[in-house]
Amino acid sequence: MSKPSHVVIVGAGFGGLGAAEQLAHVPVEVTLIDRHNYHTFQPLLYQVATSLLNAEDVGAPVRSMFRHQENVTFRMATVTGVDVPDHKIKLEDGSLINYDYLVLAGGTIVNYFNTPGAVEHAFPLYTLMNAVTLRNRILERFEAADRDPTLIKDGALNFVIVGAGPTGVETAGALSDLFYNLLPYDYHHLSTEMARVIIVEMGKEVLAPFKDNLRKYAKEELEERRVEVRLGEAVKEVGPTFVRLESGEKIKAHTLIWAAGVRANPLADILGLPQGRGGRIKLNPDLSVPEHPEIFVVGDMGEVASKGKVLPQLGSVAMQSGDHVAQQISRRLAGEPTQPFKYWDKGFMATIGRGAAVVEFPNKKTLHGQLAYSAWLGVHLALLSGMRNRIETLWNWGWSALTHDRAARIIIDAKDDQAKTRGPA
Ligand SMILES: Cc1cc2nc3c(=O)[nH]c(=O)nc-3n(C[C@H](O)[C@H](O)[C@H](O)COP(=O)(O)OP(=O)(O)OC[C@H]3O[C@@H](n4cnc5c(N)ncnc54)[C@H](O)[C@@H]3O)c2cc1C
Repeated sequence: MSKPSHVVIVGAGFGGLGAAEQLAHVPVEVTLIDRHNYHTFQPLLYQVATSLLNAEDVGAPVRSMFRHQENVTFRMATVTGVDVPDHKIKLEDGSLINYDYLVLAGGTIVNYFNTPGAVEHAFPLYTLMNAVTLRNRILERFEAADRDPTLIKDGALNFVIVGAGPTGVETAGALSDLFYNLLPYDYHHLSTEMARVIIVEMGKEVLAPFKDNLRKYAKEELEERRVEVRLGEAVKEVGPTFVRLESGEKIKAHTLIWAAGVRANPLADILGLPQGRGGRIKLNPDLSVPEHPEIFVVGDMGEVASKGKVLPQLGSVAMQSGDHVAQQISRRLAGEPTQPFKYWDKGFMATIGRGAAVVEFPNKKTLHGQLAYSAWLGVHLALLSGMRNRIETLWNWGWSALTHDRAARIIIDAKDDQAKTRGPA
């Protein structure tokens, strides 16, 4: 009997998981590789950063997901390159893995658009560690201001968010809830009402991908929640205690949260394959790479298109493209022709804060307010990986809804802890 084909999947995000799961009943051996041993549910990262959820609620161990799928082997490793002619991938430790089919699902990295000071001082929100680092920063700045209230004037409690897309808007609403509804009870002697949340957006609207009525509603809701919305403004420079805007205005702020853009995983650059906007790899309609029918790209890393239209970088696009590619590998093995990817648009949604969200359906009908918020909660709960995470998240949401309390209001700094608790040599 001939050896089954070997499918290597790089990345255990929405796209990679979609592909691996769909290959369950295909006669292939799958090696799924990720630099982390967990899958990250990115849409809820902002809730980790604002202390509503624990990091473990939005991270799910990959090994437990494939406990019952014997044709999947998980490898925790960082992929550093691909030898396209020889069908091998390279890992950070120097080892090589052969593949018959390669599925690239490495997602994106933050794009600072060469903004001076951003690499050193901005706080991105793309990984679980980013979210924990930002949570530490927020809580630590309140502790610092509590010790020395003169720091408030210096911008310790000013939080600037760059980008008024869904990530920026959701983070701003959650910060407002944390600052004005909960932290005043924790800090008896600190003027927490002095804290500011400022969104800076280059475009003329918040939530640009949504319909006009939803954008207007979102802006009004943010402002009602004391979020300062600066439209038509771009960040020119970031320093440790300031953010300079293109208009010349200098905002005193110790924390700048970057929610303004991504670019394809750098693996896309080193492959030497044609790339489109944001470095996304250009693809055939079946999501294979031109001239390399054995390589597929799914999710944010590729220019995934349906009916000739390049799709936005969304979780649902990544999941469906992963499923699709698994089906195409199955078709190839069966000697059948591949099919073009067709996206099933289920609409999109975003929260603005407690009790407020917007939903746009595929037929362009819209919903906003409490009903939209309930729909958002339900959809995100259902999409979370694993029953434990769903129960834990539901509990944290319920507790917070009843009490305004947030479970994860703790500063965990591994490096600091190591240094301070190390015993004598
Ligand atoms: C803060 C935030 C909020 C979002 N909110 C929403 C939302 O509400 N709705 C929505 O639809 N979409 C949302 N998105 C977008 C959505 O999360 C992405 O479109 C989706 O995660 C893309 O899936 P992916 O599989 O392509 O990549 P990812 O989910 O990013 O997965 C990539 C995986 O590859 C791994 N990896 C990367 N490089 C390497 C390497 N060299 N070696 C090994 N492993 C590697 C990473 O560790 C990661 O696990 C949000 C994104 C962010 C950042």
